[in-house]
Amino acid sequence: MNILIFGAQGSGKGTQADLLSKKLKIPHITVGDIFRLIIKKENKLGKILASYLNKGKLAPNEITNRIIAERLKKPDVARGFILDGYPRNKVQANFLDKILAIDKVIEIKVSDKEAVKRIKNRRMCYCGRTYHLKYNPPKKDGICDECGKKLYQRDDDKPKEIKERLRIYHKETEPIITDYKKRGIVEIVEGERPIQEIHLNIMKILI
Ligand SMILES: [Zn+2]
Repeated sequence: MNILIFGAQGSGKGTQADLLSKKLKIPHITVGDIFRLIIKKENKLGKILASYLNKGKLAPNEITNRIIAERLKKPDVARGFILDGYPRNKVQANFLDKILAIDKVIEIKVSDKEAVKRIKNRRMCYCGRTYHLKYNPPKKDGICDECGKKLYQRDDDKPKEIKERLRIYHKETEPIITDYKKRGIVEIVEGERPIQEIHLNIMKILI
């Protein structure tokens, strides 16, 4: 099953996509993670990406499309995937339509107020785990349960950057969800609930 998962920053879509990926045994593809991996390589493309992302800007469509097209060619997506963070706008959605068909679109709804509250408390680990100081805290303050490294806060998780990303989400991403609704493949999930409850809700929708 080819699944897109949408939700404003802080909606918990990453966590839900992870749970879903384990359950359905299909990969969770996060655009942000792919970008971070490329940036770490410090090659030409990595430097170009860093020049946008470090300023809190989104990468250009052309680069993003190319990277996603490459990723969706890998054999592990043969049985399907959960794509998170893409497409972000109409140009990207049109591009994706040319590559493959989407079966289901899940939209996790949270208010802007709740989104800001959650992101402010978000902490990351270099191993890829994410935490929330209130809803999903590490066992030991500031330390990852999984690997024992120190947690950090992403630059774009700071208040000014959060507001800008929410603005772009409403302006550019929500209209494409409206387009998918016309195809009858969108399921809306109320996101201001406990993680497990949302997960069960999504599973019920998909099965
Ligand atoms: Zn870790």
